[in-house]
Amino acid sequence: MKKCSACGKRIALGGEAFVDQLYCNEKCRKAGLLEASERYLSHDIIMERVMDIHHGPCPMCGKEGPNDVQWHYTVWSAIFVTSHKDQPDICCRGCGIKKKWSGVLFSGTLGWWGFPFGLLLTPAQLVRNFVSMAKSPVHGKPSRELMDMIRMEMGAMALLEAANMARQAAQPPPLAAAVPSPLDQRA
Ligand SMILES: [Zn+2]
Ligand SMILES: [Zn+2]
Repeated sequence: MKKCSACGKRIALGGEAFVDQLYCNEKCRKAGLLEASERYLSHDIIMERVMDIHHGPCPMCGKEGPNDVQWHYTVWSAIFVTSHKDQPDICCRGCGIKKKWSGVLFSGTLGWWGFPFGLLLTPAQLVRNFVSMAKSPVHGKPSRELMDMIRMEMGAMALLEAANMARQAAQPPPLAAAVPSPLDQRA
């Protein structure tokens, strides 16, 4: 039976695959990618990338940072169906606030129309948008969340690269006979 690459538990069915790794669930996938970033990359290289993104231009509007992970929250309902979503973006303060206001408008308009969850989740998502408006990126202080997000991305790329290298190493060398020898041409 296959085992989770992060926690080592056996996986009977399903699981989340990534390159040549298999994880129980989203939580183990995150742990596995963080672990890979530590295994393959130095702390300095990771921090350099974190600071580049934190201090660089905003990925959304291109204006000057600081940038950090900013969440906005939405919910919509259609009578008996209610669907909610928590979405993170890496962006500057201004773009974060715009996203949160769009979450307020979207949920305030479309959230209420489901019973019972629309009535319960809409105020919750509205409050979460307002509360998170107070959390803006702080110059020179990237959040733990931003660091982890970037570490996971770098861990994923390191795993991809390692799997590629392993595949190349496993390939047999081209057969000698397939390569025309200069001696053959003389004959
Ligand atoms: Zn696991
Ligand atoms: Zn921006």
